[in-house]
Amino acid sequence: MARPPTGRHFLQIPGPSNVPDRILRAMARPTIDHRGPEFAEIGRKILDGLRWLVGTEGPVIVYPSSGTGAWEAALVNTLSPGDRVLMFETGHFGVEWAEVAGRLGLDVDLVPGDWRQGVDPDVVEERLKEDESQTYKAIAVLHNETSTGAVSRIHEIRRSIDRAGHPALFMVDTISSLGSIEYHHDEWGVDVTVSASQKGLMLPPGLAFTGVSAKAIEASRTATLPRSYWEWERMIAQNEKGFFPYTPATNLLYGLRESLVMFREEGLENIFQRHIRHGAATRRAVLTWGLEIQCGHPEEYSGVLTGVRLPEGHDADRFRALTLDRFDLSLGTGLGKLKGTMFRIGHLGDFNDLMLFATLAGVESGLALADIPIQRGGVNAAIAHLEEWG
Ligand SMILES: *Cc1c(COP(=O)(O)O)cnc(C)c1O
Repeated sequence: MARPPTGRHFLQIPGPSNVPDRILRAMARPTIDHRGPEFAEIGRKILDGLRWLVGTEGPVIVYPSSGTGAWEAALVNTLSPGDRVLMFETGHFGVEWAEVAGRLGLDVDLVPGDWRQGVDPDVVEERLKEDESQTYKAIAVLHNETSTGAVSRIHEIRRSIDRAGHPALFMVDTISSLGSIEYHHDEWGVDVTVSASQKGLMLPPGLAFTGVSAKAIEASRTATLPRSYWEWERMIAQNEKGFFPYTPATNLLYGLRESLVMFREEGLENIFQRHIRHGAATRRAVLTWGLEIQCGHPEEYSGVLTGVRLPEGHDADRFRALTLDRFDLSLGTGLGKLKGTMFRIGHLGDFNDLMLFATLAGVESGLALADIPIQRGGVNAAIAHLEEWG
């Protein structure tokens, strides 16, 4: 019989991320009447906090759903059947969002990609300039492509859209970047920001968000895709009083309230820097091992996760099974067409130097035990890098 695990499980996948004890405790209290005065107070506080986190003066809508729900909400609230949408094959999640759009009856133009980089702002400008009669109604980009660890430069993409003088709505998936990588909905001219609870926000899965610009609300007045559960209008009206049109995920909202307190305590800029620093140290280890990083563009490296490619002939999922069995360490699987060829190290959310050292030690030892040819010393290189960094 297998030995039962002792000590803490290491959940180092790029979401769901580790949920801090503080947040677990905050959720462990009685559910209250979601139409009563105590709830209204909580509701207003959370919605204010989310606006701050997303960087918007406009509404942020909260759904009891996974992030996929917010993908759908962004599309069905603003678009009509047959509308053209420009999307990008940055990786598995880029493809999945495009598939959602296709299933909803939108006409998706998916710009092909090699799953090793983010969206090229120049390609955006070119594509939009070619669209002389301005048939694209929306352009949708992932901020952090979680299947590869490549970050798209949202601010620059906005400038490309402006240079092309194109009126398409700009939609951004921040599901794995919000609260981990710098992001500004209003300042960067985003129309719909899509996010979820279980990655940078350090919460369990179950909440999804859409931040909505005035232009997106305007578009929702004439958009004709069918919608009911995802409809913004009733949400926004009820949210003004701190309420929701249907039963919210009350206990997850208790957790969100605590998560927002933690964000304010540490400070957003410090949190972004912490992620950048842990990403840099992780890459130091990977390069020391002599392995390849999935993201091929250094200016797009992610502070949230690192995708690690294995040499030909080695099965990444067999290696992952070994680290789970031996060290109780969960690493992220390769998704879609990357399955088996790479694994992902999550270094996001509630995380610190020692957790990173332990994670990298588990990876290094696991690679050796799986007979994958590496140079030892990756963990030491990461430690030295952080000592130098300060
Ligand atoms: C996790 C993730 C999703 C999917 O979210 P679910 O909560 O699993 O529905 C979509 N996009 C990105 C970038 C993600 O990281």
